[in-house]
Amino acid sequence: MKLLVTGGAGFIGSHTCIALLESNHEVVIIDSHINSSIETINSIKKILNKWSNHQDINLNGIVGDIRDEELLNKLFFKAETEGKPFDAVLHFAGLKSVNESVISPLEYWDSNIKGSISLLKSMNKYNCKTIIFSSSASIYGTNNEVLFKETSQIKPINPYGRTKHTIEIILNDLFASAPDEWKIANLRYFNPIGAHQSGIIGESPLGIPNNIFPLITKVAEGKSNYFSIYGNDWPTKDGTGVRDYIHVMDLAEGHLAALNFLKENETQIININLGTGLGTSVLELINQFQDANNIRIPYEFTNRRLGDAASVIADNSLAINLLNWLPKRSLKQMCIDGWRSKQFGLNQKTLLD
Ligand code: NAD
Repeated sequence: MKLLVTGGAGFIGSHTCIALLESNHEVVIIDSHINSSIETINSIKKILNKWSNHQDINLNGIVGDIRDEELLNKLFFKAETEGKPFDAVLHFAGLKSVNESVISPLEYWDSNIKGSISLLKSMNKYNCKTIIFSSSASIYGTNNEVLFKETSQIKPINPYGRTKHTIEIILNDLFASAPDEWKIANLRYFNPIGAHQSGIIGESPLGIPNNIFPLITKVAEGKSNYFSIYGNDWPTKDGTGVRDYIHVMDLAEGHLAALNFLKENETQIININLGTGLGTSVLELINQFQDANNIRIPYEFTNRRLGDAASVIADNSLAINLLNWLPKRSLKQMCIDGWRSKQFGLNQKTLLD
């Protein structure tokens, strides 16, 4: 298939591109690089060439913002006139920090909603009607359910989550307008961490990191003195927040499985959780990171953060039953791979150049 991947240079997008290219799909990435390096495109190629031994890599990177509808139209038009229109879009592009979204909601609404609308308008215009959207577990309410099902209450508690929910609503409306035409999968991710086993790419946000893993590795690298744990009084096994961490390559493979599922089935819109179904507390994650990598992570407890929840774990049975997919990699593997990618970053240019 020929695939347009928005935000494909980012953390999850870049790992997914590896899975897509390994399955011989043709990939065009559009990314503004507001939170990623343009170098990632070359890193993906290197992994395919030297790690997975793929010589015919069909990957192109376009620098651009998906809010630029004219640019998107040009991309779709070019693909069409070349006789190879896009078969589907994987839509990762967007801003993703819960904290930032509380401080700058307008930026989040502008980037996430305007970007998605302009993308969907362009897809509609050029008759590309299969899309996999990066949704999030943050759309679920904090109603102390043990496991979140796709049918659980939707009640996002921060602007970021509300933008994700709104995009799902837009996609629902779009589907309802032409149910015989659209194939839509809203993949609701839980907490992706880890990195590709090569260590060549990983989670490398620009600016101040917000996600837990880059904050832990910052301490491991000696760039922070300690790791802050937000709250030790949550109603969880050890008082720290519990999350469902999933290896980013398992998540990437989930996209491939969803793409195959949409291809092989009739038009539909479907919501699917991608997680492991296992809950890990912050303290357990730190201990696992320390044991797996033999590095001490000093930590300190601080106040709970606004917009956080005690426990967020996926019921992943729909993904397992429907997609022929299983998360395979352990928490230990996530910690080892995630740290390897940081070390590779520290010793850049030693491994593959
Ligand atoms: P990321 O920031 O690493 O990747 C997003 C990419 O999109 C970046 O490369 C960024 O430069 C690009 N981008 C942002 N706005 C853009 C725009 N307007 N036009 C073009 N490119 C733009 O984030 P990620 O962790 O890879 O997340 C990917 C998607 O998954 C996001 O939509 C995010 O909301 C969603 N998600 C992430 C997580 C997580 O924990 N990482 C969890 C649930 C959902």
